[in-house]
Amino acid sequence: MSVTGLCQICERREAEYACHRCGAAVCSIHFETEQGVCVNCASAEGTEDVAGGAGDVPEFR
Ligand SMILES: [Zn+2]
Ligand SMILES: [Zn+2]
Repeated sequence: MSVTGLCQICERREAEYACHRCGAAVCSIHFETEQGVCVNCASAEGTEDVAGGAGDVPEFR
């Protein structure tokens, strides 16, 4: 699977992966390789990585 274009999250880096959930093309820093999804989907999954999160998800890194 090849992805061309810019990351749909930061729109600055070249997209290297495609989110398995929403299909967004994202760069390496906005892709959760362990889950195979973009950071937006990873955070929407309700991962338990972030303890005490109040709902707002930081867009940066
Ligand atoms: Zn990005
Ligand atoms: Zn996604």
